[in-house]
Amino acid sequence: MMSTIPAAGPVACEICLKEIPRSVAQSQEAADYVYYFCGADCYQQWQARPPLRHLGLIVNGLELDFESAQALAQAAARRLAPDAMLLAWYDRPRGRESPEVPECTRQPGWLAYAESHGGDIRVDINHGEYVFMFNPG
Ligand SMILES: [Zn+2]
Repeated sequence: MMSTIPAAGPVACEICLKEIPRSVAQSQEAADYVYYFCGADCYQQWQARPPLRHLGLIVNGLELDFESAQALAQAAARRLAPDAMLLAWYDRPRGRESPEVPECTRQPGWLAYAESHGGDIRVDINHGEYVFMFNPG
């Protein structure tokens, strides 16, 4: 099984991002990743989270700029949740992201931000050219 977690050293709690010694962390194995928690409270919060809904869009024959990508993503997210609110995004062509927060141990900051703010709708355009995270509202 593949894992990007180093074999030793502290790990970050999945929910509060606090660094904890691996020996006291509670862990939960998922399909291809081990999640760590500082304690039972964070573990319960993680368990109660709604599952991520992942939409993938492919656009051919059209040069997508950020504005049109965002409009497409918004339309798609609102099919799932009429009040979907954009939380975070990644724009690979321009190398930009929002919000700009420090990278956490296992994923980019903007993604960690979205996941910790109820961002459970992910819209992926052209295999990660643009990624938008929405809160269902
Ligand atoms: Zn925690």
